[in-house]
Amino acid sequence: MDKILLVDDNKALSKLLAKKMNKELPDMQVDVAHSFEEAKILMAKNKKDYFLAVLDLNLPDAPNGEIVDYALAGGLGVIVLTGSLDKKTKEFFTQKEIIDYVYKGNVDDVNYIFSTINRLSKNRKFKVMVVDDSSQFRSYLKKVMKNLQFQVFTAAHGEEAMNYFNDNPDIKLVLTDYNMPVKNGLEVLREIRAEHGKNDVGVIVMTSPNEDVGAPIFIKQGANDFIAKPFEKEELICRVNNTIDIIENIEQIANFANHDFLTGIYNRRFFYENVAEYSQKAHECQESFAIAMIDIDHFKSINDTFGHDGGDRVLKSLASQFTNATKGSDIVARFGGEEFCILLKNVKKEDAIKFFVKLRADIAASQIEIKGSFLKFTISIGLAFSNEDYTLDELLELADNALYVAKESGRNRVEVANYDY
Ligand code: GH3
Ligand code: MG
Ligand code: MG
Repeated sequence: MDKILLVDDNKALSKLLAKKMNKELPDMQVDVAHSFEEAKILMAKNKKDYFLAVLDLNLPDAPNGEIVDYALAGGLGVIVLTGSLDKKTKEFFTQKEIIDYVYKGNVDDVNYIFSTINRLSKNRKFKVMVVDDSSQFRSYLKKVMKNLQFQVFTAAHGEEAMNYFNDNPDIKLVLTDYNMPVKNGLEVLREIRAEHGKNDVGVIVMTSPNEDVGAPIFIKQGANDFIAKPFEKEELICRVNNTIDIIENIEQIANFANHDFLTGIYNRRFFYENVAEYSQKAHECQESFAIAMIDIDHFKSINDTFGHDGGDRVLKSLASQFTNATKGSDIVARFGGEEFCILLKNVKKEDAIKFFVKLRADIAASQIEIKGSFLKFTISIGLAFSNEDYTLDELLELADNALYVAKESGRNRVEVANYDY
C-alpha cells in the first residue's frame, strides 16, 4: 500500500486532512506528524514506503520550511501546505523542487490536495517524453516531470524522439520544443498525429517568441496545448495535468460506452463494432471462428426466489466464469437481460463445440451462495461457425435460432446452427 506523510502542527487541521485522505484515497495509508522532530522519526522508519510528503511550511521546530529540504534530500515528492500566498512563498515554490503547494484557506481550498494526490498516484503509470535540444532545459523538464511521478524519456531532437516513440508506443504525453535541429516540433507533432489522435497521445508544444510560426498552427495540427517560453513551472504543471486529465476522462467515457454497467464485460454495441471488423479480416485470411448465443434458463424464477439482487449476483458470476474460461483475445459480451454472446477466435468447429459443451457442464455443476442458501442454475447455448457465405448478422441469427431450438428441446444444452456448408 502507498504511504503518505502528512506534517502539520495544527492538530485539528491535520486530523481533518488525514480523515478526508482515508476516505478519498482508500488505497493509501496516511501517517501524521505534528513537528519536524516527529516527522524525522517517521521518515527514518518508513523512508522507502512514502511516495509523497504533505508538509506545513511553518512548524514550531522548523519555522522557515526546513522540513522541505530535509524531505527532498530524502528523495520524497513534496507538496507544501501554506497559510499565505505571498511573493516569498511563491518564490520558495519556484526555487525548490516541490511538486505543488496548497493554500490552506478553507475546506474547499484543501480539497484541491486530494485531486492533486490522486493525479500524482495515477501519473506513475504514465510514460512522458520530453524533447528539447537544450540539454540544460531538457534536464530541468525531466526533473519537473519526474517530480510529477511520471516515467520520463528525454530526446534531444525530433528524430531521436520519434525513435523512442516508435519503440514505446505507450508514451501518453509528449512535451516538445518547436525549434530543434534535424526534426522540429511541428514535424514531431505531424508524425505522431498521422498514427494517433489527440485523445490517445497528448502533445504539448513549447513555443518561443520571435519564431516564424505562431502558436495557433500547433493547435490546428492537433496539439492538445501549447506553452510559451519562458514559462513558470506552475503553469507547465497545470497544463500537463489538464491534458492528462482530459485524455483519462475520455478513456473512461469510451470505457463506459463499451462496457456493460452491471457485469463490467463488453456490451452489445462494442461486440457489433469490434466483431464486424474482425470477421472481415478473419474471412480475408481464412481464419475460422465460432459465435455462441447464451441464455440463462428460467432466470425469471431465480429472480422470483432470490430477489433482483440475487439475479444480479448470478449475472455477475456468470460473466466472470465466461471471462475466465476464454482467452484474452476472445470476446465475451452481455447482449441484454440474461443473454450473453461469446466469440471464439481462430478456433476449429470441433474444438469450439467441445469448449461450449464443457462450459455448459461446468456451469451446471457450479453453485452460488446467496444469503446462506446455495443456488444452482443452467444455461442454453446456440452455436454458429464462420462461413464465407454468411454475414455476421446472419451468423448471429443462426446462433439465435439454435438457441431457440436448445430452449425448445428442454434447455441446459448446446445446439449447433442448422445450415449447409
Ligand atoms: P428461459 O429459460 O426461457 O430463458 O426463461 P427465463 O425466465 O430465463 O426468460 P424470460 O425472458 O422469461 O425472463 C428473463 C428475466 O430476466 C426477466 C427479467 O426481469 C430478468 N432480467 C432482465 N435483466 C435483468 C437484470 O439486469 N437483473 C436481474 N436480476 N434480472 C434481469
Ligand atoms: Mg432465460
Ligand atoms: Mg430471455
